[in-house]
Amino acid sequence: MRSFSKSKQEFSRAKRVLAGGVNSPVRSFQAMGGTPLVFKKAKGAYLFDVDGHKYIDYCQSWGALALGHADPSVCRAIAVQAGLGTSFGAVTPYETQLATFLRRLFPSCQRLRFVSSGTEAVMSAVRLARGVTGKERILKFEGCYHGHLDSLLVRAGSGLATLGRPSSLGVPSSFVSKTTTLPYNDSNAVKQAFRKFKDIACVIVEPVAGNMGVIPAKRAFLKLLRQETRRHKALLIFDEVMTGLRAHSRGVQGLYGIQPDLTTLGKVIGGGLPIGALGGKEKIMNQLAPEGPVYQAGTLSGNPLSMAAGLETLRQLTRNGTFKKLQASTAYLAGEVESIMRKKGIPVHVPHVGSMFSIYFQPKAPEKYSDISQGHVQTYKKFFWHMVSQGIYLPPSSYEAMFLSVKHSQRDLKTTLKAVERFAL
Ligand code: PLP
Repeated sequence: MRSFSKSKQEFSRAKRVLAGGVNSPVRSFQAMGGTPLVFKKAKGAYLFDVDGHKYIDYCQSWGALALGHADPSVCRAIAVQAGLGTSFGAVTPYETQLATFLRRLFPSCQRLRFVSSGTEAVMSAVRLARGVTGKERILKFEGCYHGHLDSLLVRAGSGLATLGRPSSLGVPSSFVSKTTTLPYNDSNAVKQAFRKFKDIACVIVEPVAGNMGVIPAKRAFLKLLRQETRRHKALLIFDEVMTGLRAHSRGVQGLYGIQPDLTTLGKVIGGGLPIGALGGKEKIMNQLAPEGPVYQAGTLSGNPLSMAAGLETLRQLTRNGTFKKLQASTAYLAGEVESIMRKKGIPVHVPHVGSMFSIYFQPKAPEKYSDISQGHVQTYKKFFWHMVSQGIYLPPSSYEAMFLSVKHSQRDLKTTLKAVERFAL
């Protein structure tokens, strides 16, 4: 039996000074029941908690770490940059270098702007879409999470889903009165919404959902979004904060060959440091201040340490088939987990795209948020603690994606599969 006494002590200390003991709700393990593990060190595929236990990590900072923890070249790039300056609040070559790299991967992003988080990227993209179209309504999809900005905190996935609330207190109803939420993958609902509302500024979508577990959008659904937004002069925003560099090295837009008007990015592109970005066609992006009338700004935007970590991460990840190998390891792991569980008679689906996957404990693969059963939520909780007892760390929520890094070895995968074999309902 593992003892978590130091984690418990550390968390009670945290609760005395931090709201709920955390700086982001899902970290509290509230949905898993029990106190959170407190980590003090991480290297490659592994996390180490304050009680001295080692874990193979499939959370990887919620997907941000595609090269694993503390990659030596990323650490070196950060150290070199820190020696040159940690923040300039002025134009630097580093922002241009990362933007140039990203533009090669995401040709739809003719111009980019860096911010400090995914939430900020989405907030700016929505403001830009409203400013450019002169319209106000946002169409979003149930179970998709786009950060914690007021207007999109409606039937969102991720941490909000674990709390079982449709929205958050403190969000004025007037802020969400122009947000329409539809079921994911439901083309008819989209067509109807465009017939009903003449004020749609944008449709925002996770083109492969990762915040209600992994639910890929159907290609026909994304194509329909592209057609309808064009027809009705609304902008299509692909929120690729998670999927960019995870679903595919060129994002879901590269995978499906569908070009959005605006793209939001984050996580992997900052190599584990705070970052967000929005990008799109030149004529749209030029509507941002200072060239255009849509205001957007940030003291630490384009922070040089994030630029350095991001650039080194992208260089490694897109080199010599690295992404393909990562994808193959993910497909192998997902396939084996599914087959082991099914042999044991456990109803399960393990969808995977690129280096993202998730486990649904239910007989039918979900295509939308409401397809996710309470049975899955309950079984996942048991599975989570079983895996912790085996030295495997998964996201502490039944609505999140899991992630591999390039540092996960074949041996790590085999160890993980053995732990899965030992799971019994
Ligand atoms: N958009 C998507 C698709 C996300 O998954 C997330 C975070 O998980 C965000 C936006 C918000 O990003 P951040 O947590 O960096 O604000």
